[in-house]
Amino acid sequence: MKLSSLTLILTEQCNFNCSYCYQAKGEKNNDLSTIKKAIDFFSPYFSFPCYINFYGGEPTLEWDLITKVVEYIKSKDRAKEIKFSMTSNCSLLDQKRIEFLSNNHFTLLISFDGLAQEISREKGSLSKIEMTIMDILDYPDIHTAVNSIFIPETIHLLSASIKMMIEMNMKEINFGLSSISTWEEADMERFHMELEKLSIILADYYKENGFIPVVNFQQGHKKGTFVCHAGRNRLALSPDGQIWGCYLFWDYFKNRKNHPGYGNYCFGKLEEFMVSPEEPYPGILAHYSDLRMDYFCMQGKPCFSCNDIEHCMVCPIDAVFSGAQFGEVPPVICRINKTLMKYRKIFLGNLGIGNH
Ligand code: SF4
Ligand code: SF4
Repeated sequence: MKLSSLTLILTEQCNFNCSYCYQAKGEKNNDLSTIKKAIDFFSPYFSFPCYINFYGGEPTLEWDLITKVVEYIKSKDRAKEIKFSMTSNCSLLDQKRIEFLSNNHFTLLISFDGLAQEISREKGSLSKIEMTIMDILDYPDIHTAVNSIFIPETIHLLSASIKMMIEMNMKEINFGLSSISTWEEADMERFHMELEKLSIILADYYKENGFIPVVNFQQGHKKGTFVCHAGRNRLALSPDGQIWGCYLFWDYFKNRKNHPGYGNYCFGKLEEFMVSPEEPYPGILAHYSDLRMDYFCMQGKPCFSCNDIEHCMVCPIDAVFSGAQFGEVPPVICRINKTLMKYRKIFLGNLGIGNH
């Protein structure tokens, strides 16, 4: 077992109510003594640099816990090679907290939808989050990236939202479409139009700056079969003290304890895992190892026979939240991916820069 990240799911609670969020909210929070046990146990398995990732719900609701965990890790051997990251809506970050993130060189994945924020995330939050992000961007020791999600009701705002983020000076923007929404033909047409507009915005930006700030359109997407790394080089500790291959598995299974897949993907309680990890780990890992594009199928057709397989990435948890079985890709995700791949290829081809 070699871990490049350990995710600590701090809480089931969130102060936002995003319309596309597939997490079931709850009251459970993680606690410092369980987290310390997890860090002590797993640190010999860290492959450095290793990331401690704070996740929720909204992790900043458990701010004291974050500061205590950071202090604890700083007291450990090879602390300098342990990095911190956090996924947050940023609504609870004030100057003091931002300074803490900066002093500890956090990577911050900001959940922010630009102009769509008011519709799909939290009404009234746009200007406050925008100001907070501008403050964060003043701290070069915080590495920032943005993740935006669009739904049929906001897809017409995609290009303008990304433009707004670029103008805010964000350098690493990733967007996705909610796969749990129902996408009608008219919505998909709008998606095409938005990708055309975005291609023009990004081409202008590239000509001026020599750089593409939107990850979905960047060159250098390596050819090769996409593999879900859950359980292989990452694990997650849930607020109920269980170990999972990736935090998203807990999101999916926490209210599906009778699901036949539960026992395939849960490594069990931390305390039991610590006694004899060699018992559950290889058997459960074998199930995770099946989660790779060349083993997936879409409407009964194997993905390995698809011309796009070397550029296609499907998160298996996104797929099952959309109603598929493990190992299946629902048509909506396939269609969204194919559309994005097509536009990226045309975009990069037009700029003469690159591999698809
Ligand atoms: S593909 Fe999805 S489930 Fe697998 S590691 Fe990535 S985020 Fe987690
Ligand atoms: S584009 Fe569709 S069929 Fe092709 S690899 Fe991706 S999910 Fe499978």
